[in-house]
Parts: sequence; structure tokens; C-alpha cells
Amino acid sequence: MKNSHIYGPVPSRRLGFSLGVDLVPAKICSYDCIYCQIGPTPRTITARKPYIPAKTVIDEVAAFLKNHPAPDCITLGGSGEPTLNSDIGRIIKEIKAETDVPVAVLTNGSLLCDPDIRDDLRHADVVLPSFDACDPEMFARINRPHADIGFTQMAEGQVAFRKTYPGSIWLEIFFVEGINTDDAHAREFAEWIEKIRPDKVHLNTAIRPTAEKNVTAVSFSDLERIRDLLGQVAEIIVPFGKDASQRLNPDIRKDLLAILSRRPCTLADLSAVTGVHSLELVKHLEELTKGNRVETVAQGDKTYYHVRE
Ligand code: SF4
Repeated sequence: MKNSHIYGPVPSRRLGFSLGVDLVPAKICSYDCIYCQIGPTPRTITARKPYIPAKTVIDEVAAFLKNHPAPDCITLGGSGEPTLNSDIGRIIKEIKAETDVPVAVLTNGSLLCDPDIRDDLRHADVVLPSFDACDPEMFARINRPHADIGFTQMAEGQVAFRKTYPGSIWLEIFFVEGINTDDAHAREFAEWIEKIRPDKVHLNTAIRPTAEKNVTAVSFSDLERIRDLLGQVAEIIVPFGKDASQRLNPDIRKDLLAILSRRPCTLADLSAVTGVHSLELVKHLEELTKGNRVETVAQGDKTYYHVRE
């Protein structure tokens, strides 16, 4: 938590206890998704740069691994699109040389049409690209991409990636009520899944506050209907439930602020990641709230904490 580009390990629904690594600052992204948890993208970007240099990231990961229990996974992401970091290939290779902990990359998949980026990701153990739309109109409504990124280019880039990438691909489809949830959409998604051939398809929906207020979560029964249409490769992402008691950190308020500055969390999320009982955490959160460092937002029947701007 002392370093500025790594955080956690945080409980991930897909990756277990995941050490998060930010490869881009907020909000360097090629998309402006309506469901983004980080908030709107002021200006979409496609230019690659060493937004956070390889040496900085590698030194921070190495220092963490030296001083802490190994996480389940090291996840390259950030408050935007990590493949925009032109050092990502070197970062993956050097982390792999340092540790046996699997390396995952969370990407929006928009730039996989670029052969250099496909090559950069080659050494990752698992790549988790988004694929939220099955036609250009839906793509524009949900992902609001940079003007240089077309739907066909994005989708064919993902097909091309599968042809050369030897690791696991876990595709994520984020469902927004009223936009991409019909049976007809599910059948079109199924056609793209057949072309991309991911190892898994994760079905997700809005369980946290989103960039646009009118993004409505899909019901569990609708996700089940879609899953059944997509076939055995598809699974609904389930809430995290692993015991975290070994990862206590005494400086809990600092940890809470670091976690919440990256994504909103419920009390249960925070208890899972810190290993601190929720009744104790409530006292710290009350203090942070009184000090105007943290505030709460209701989403559905849950309350999320996040850091005040
Ligand atoms: S959800 Fe991901 S891809 Fe979409 S705008 Fe946010 S950071 Fe970018």
C-alpha cells in the first residue's frame, strides 16, 4: 500500500486475491463506457505511451513480493486501458521472470487489432477482454469508443488474438438492461464467441455505481436465460467469498482509502479484502466519513463506500 501503482491484494470475483497493478492513470482509455465504475472518460485516447514506466512498475511489484505473502494473481489493469501503456510487453515479461504467480491482463479489447499489442500480451497467463456489443450501434451506445475504433476492427482484432495467443482468454460481456439483453442479441453474441473461441465467457452487470446514472442492472434470471443461450462456456460471475484472514494490515484506514480510491466497495467487500471484521471496519469508516474522506452511495439494495473527490 506504500506504493502508488499497486494495490491490494483485493478480492476479485474471477481471480481470487489479486494484486492490482495500475499501468495507466485515470482515465487514459480508448472507451467511455456507460457502465464505467471510474466515471466518464474526458477524452478517449488511442496513442500508446509509457504512461507509467516499466521500471517503476516492476520495482514496485518486486518489492511487494519480497515483503508479503504471494497473491493468487497479479492483475495488470488501471484506471483506464492498460494496453495503452507501450511498456506492457516488457512489464509482463519481467514480472514473469520474477515470480511464478500468474499474470492476468484486464483489457477492453479495443486495440487487439494492433499486431504489436497482440505480441505484447503473448506472455500473460490469462487475458480478460471485454466484448459488450455484437453490432456497431450497440458498440456506440455501450462503449462509446474513440472515433478511430470501429466495431468490426475491434471484433476481428479479438478473433486474430485467439489465433496466436497461447494462454487463456476469459471474455467478459457486460449486460445493460434494455440494450444488449434480448434473445436475438444473445444469439449474435454466440456467433462471435464461436469465432473468438474464448476459454470462458463471464457474464457481468452493474452491481456498483456507474458512469451514467441510467445504467440498469440485469436481473439474475435474465443472466441465466442469456447464459443458457450462450452455452457451457458462459458463466455468471458470482460474489467473492474466500477467507482473507491472513492478509491483515495494521494501517487499516490508509488501506481503506487506497482500496476505495480505485473502486467503490461494500462493507462486505472491505471486510473480505482486509480480513478485518465488519463491525470493526464500520468504526474506521465512520471516522473517515466524519473527516470527509469517504462517502456512501446506494446502488440497488446495497451501500457502497467511495473516496470523496
Ligand atoms: S469500463 Fe474500462 S474500458 Fe470502459 S471506460 Fe471504464 S476503464 Fe475504459
